[in-house]
Amino acid sequence: MKICYFNGYRLGVVEGDQVFDVTTVLDALPAQRAPFPRHDTVIANLSTLLPKIAAARAGASATPISAVRFDPPVGNPGKVLGAPVNYLAHQQEAEADPGTFAAAQVRRVAEIGLFLKATSSIVGMSEGMTVSFPDRRTDHEIELTVIIGKSGRHIAEEDALDHVAGYTMGLDMTVRGPEERSLRKSVDSYTVLGPWLVTADEFGDPADVALSLQVNGLPRQASRTSDLLMSVKGLIAFASRFYRLEPGDVLMTGTPDGVGPVVPGDTMTISIERIGTFDVPVN
Ligand code: MN
Repeated sequence: MKICYFNGYRLGVVEGDQVFDVTTVLDALPAQRAPFPRHDTVIANLSTLLPKIAAARAGASATPISAVRFDPPVGNPGKVLGAPVNYLAHQQEAEADPGTFAAAQVRRVAEIGLFLKATSSIVGMSEGMTVSFPDRRTDHEIELTVIIGKSGRHIAEEDALDHVAGYTMGLDMTVRGPEERSLRKSVDSYTVLGPWLVTADEFGDPADVALSLQVNGLPRQASRTSDLLMSVKGLIAFASRFYRLEPGDVLMTGTPDGVGPVVPGDTMTISIERIGTFDVPVN
């Protein structure tokens, strides 16, 4: 199933080129009081919500995809995890351009671990990203993005995919420069997610899916997740050795080669196999 938020966090099911409004299902969530959980409540309850979503879809009104605005597919993620250099060809292009990529930054995830992006940097695909620091280079990074579904610590690789709620497309937008990644990648709107989440059962094995990005119709990035240096399973296991993964946590798996700058007015067309294709504006 493909689920989304649209038009101001209405809950939707995407089928073909239509979005079905199943917002009433959210009434089934358990009541909460402070202190509120650190995880995302919808994702935490997804297994019990999915049958209700399927039932509500039967009588739901539909709107064409082209006529809705997509919000991020996770409302309240506790954390956004990022993988530094995780494709060999991206490492090689970075090493070949020391003026843009400081040597100390071009080290693989297995060596330097993961970084965190501020959750306040998240926007939906329809809003798109807004360039800050226009005098500096801001790059696109298309990434297969995992939404954690089940809490866990010290997760074994062979169990890792059991902890996934679903998959979405992510843009890990980045200001190039000497500062820490967590600063340069946490600018408001520099984490673009969506347009919808494909549930793990529908998506299947993430080990070999195609992903690509075009800017104004010209190809920039195209690769497959089979080229990941640390696999999706490996990333989940690695991350969970350091911190508990919670429902709704966002794991961006790293970007392939072909990164490059964008400027206001550009359109990024992003595509990931089994998820879809979407045009994302640069504002
Ligand atoms: Mn990245």
